[in-house]
Amino acid sequence: MGQIVVLDQNMVNMIAAGEVIERPASVVKELMENSIDAGATKITVSIEDGGRKLISVADNGCGMDGEDLARAFEPHTTSKIKTSKDLQGISTLGFRGEALASIASVAQVKGTSRTKSEAGANCIEIDCGNKNGISPASADYGTTIQVRDIFYKLPARRKFLRTANTEMGHIADQFTRIALANDSLDLTLIHNGRELYRLPDKDNIRRHISTLFPIPSSGISENLIETESNEKGFQIQALMGKPSISRTSRKFQYVFLNSRFIRDKFISHAIKEAYRGLLEPNRFPVVFLFIRMPYEDYDVNVHPTKSEVRFYNANLIHSQILGTLREKLLGTDLQTQAKLPRPTGSFQSQVGSAPGHRSQAIADAMTDFFKKHRPVQTQEQFGYKSKHHVVALRPSTGQIPESRIGPATAFAETSQPAPEIRLEQRRFLQIHDSFIVVQTDDGFDIIDQHALHERIIYERLSRRIKKSKLESQKLLIPESFEVTPSGADAVKTNAELLEKLGIEIVPFGPKTMAVQAFPTLLSKADPLDFVQDLIDLLDRKSAQGRLPADTNLDGERLLDEVLNMVACKGAIKAGQRLTMSEIEQLLLDKENTESASRCPHGRPTTIKFSISDLEKQFKRT
Ligand code: ADP
Ligand code: MG
Repeated sequence: MGQIVVLDQNMVNMIAAGEVIERPASVVKELMENSIDAGATKITVSIEDGGRKLISVADNGCGMDGEDLARAFEPHTTSKIKTSKDLQGISTLGFRGEALASIASVAQVKGTSRTKSEAGANCIEIDCGNKNGISPASADYGTTIQVRDIFYKLPARRKFLRTANTEMGHIADQFTRIALANDSLDLTLIHNGRELYRLPDKDNIRRHISTLFPIPSSGISENLIETESNEKGFQIQALMGKPSISRTSRKFQYVFLNSRFIRDKFISHAIKEAYRGLLEPNRFPVVFLFIRMPYEDYDVNVHPTKSEVRFYNANLIHSQILGTLREKLLGTDLQTQAKLPRPTGSFQSQVGSAPGHRSQAIADAMTDFFKKHRPVQTQEQFGYKSKHHVVALRPSTGQIPESRIGPATAFAETSQPAPEIRLEQRRFLQIHDSFIVVQTDDGFDIIDQHALHERIIYERLSRRIKKSKLESQKLLIPESFEVTPSGADAVKTNAELLEKLGIEIVPFGPKTMAVQAFPTLLSKADPLDFVQDLIDLLDRKSAQGRLPADTNLDGERLLDEVLNMVACKGAIKAGQRLTMSEIEQLLLDKENTESASRCPHGRPTTIKFSISDLEKQFKRT
């Protein structure tokens, strides 16, 4: 006898529920989406015990009459599509006709609904797939679905539910996504009788963000930069977090496509690229991205919970998003504002929003600086005019240091000459041979000399290399070095890049190569050291494989890393004493450099302090 049986409908639903209904939060998502599809303007979500006991979603949408209410809980029943043609341009959040049937197969469900034209409401109760008939009820127009004791007949799945807090966290996440995507709706989330979120319909997206992310220390909403574009058939609206509020995960990246929360690796990649050089590699930006495009240009029918879609022109989307975000970021002043400690706290322990050791270094430098300069006299002692207009004051010795650096001036050829007026106003000071303190109109900046110089060199190199190759000079005697087979391979595959950089490497016997020409710009660096590091980098990169998007970003990214390396090697080091004119040049170059507030690795170059903050610290106000 055959072994195969046809599963009964309830089993089919339970299996389908396994895909769509993972936990209480999935129920909240499906029910809220149904309410939105029903045209609701007000939705109230009430939860008890993290959704284990009750999930109730009440809306003021179009409602259902008795017949539809009974049918809605049958499998594969939907009012949203009719023919296969409708699948090609789905404008509603739902369309699979599975959610209500799935939910009703794994819990006790009560649905109450009334259309505007009906005098009374109807209700239906289903207990894990066992349905009662429709009965009259009293209710306002709209629909309320109550889901009790989810998975109570499925101990294996019930066991997987986490604590009420954890489940509530997931519910809040779903609620947040829907709230961000629909800032014109009136939404409320209640847990155990307590209102967690109330988002009135008059709110705008920024207010929604402040309500949904109320962490005072991050102040997300105040640190968002807004940009928009509308080109090539789609609209992008983005609220981008400044680098100072970046995160350790992608959790704070919200992407919405026609009001549907989605995850997409092309889009994530475009966001990451847009912040390239503005964030450290292990940090992720906070981004709220809203995309609108014709429904026909993508397919939502590729994932049971529809959180992934398939774009028909993913490369175009990638480049539009990258372009829009990057342009705005590069055009925005992203300087890091120092966060001074609360006046009662110890100064040294808390200065700076800059990450890690750097903030400590700055805190130390600051403490030192303030020990030597009484606040009352700060202005006088900060610097004074001489025939050179400005002198950096070195309180311990009073001497003007000799130049000990090469690279700062090695790049001076394209720098702008300093206009006199500016110099007269500029007051600065190098501290610990590593940081430069510069007076500004409303306070002062502390600049990390290495980080800033790195950015300056990096920008200059990328500008030049875009136009043509870097100028190079022949070495008097070629310098030979040993090379591994994969290293030799890397040289061969990257011949074009090396040529652009002005580096000439030729085979020089077995396992040996020689550097014949080297970029003039790097005259201070040791050619062998540099070339060997470069080959290592190229070798490592070719082992790492390619990017998901089939764009020419691979090449760009590689060039970028190489330029990063060049900039790092060519830049003034921490601990290097600078002359007046070198500092002046650095400050002037800063003004003419794009993204000067961050080094190419994304660390801040400059931390701003305002006098008003200091006045508070010294209790002058
Ligand atoms: P889908 O949303 O994919 O159509 P569902 O199982 O979620 O499938 O819902 C089935 C049908 O029930 C919907 O197509 C809709 O007609 C109706 N429905 C569900 N929820 C509501 C609601 N809150 N208000 C009005 N109609 C609803
Ligand atoms: Mg649905």
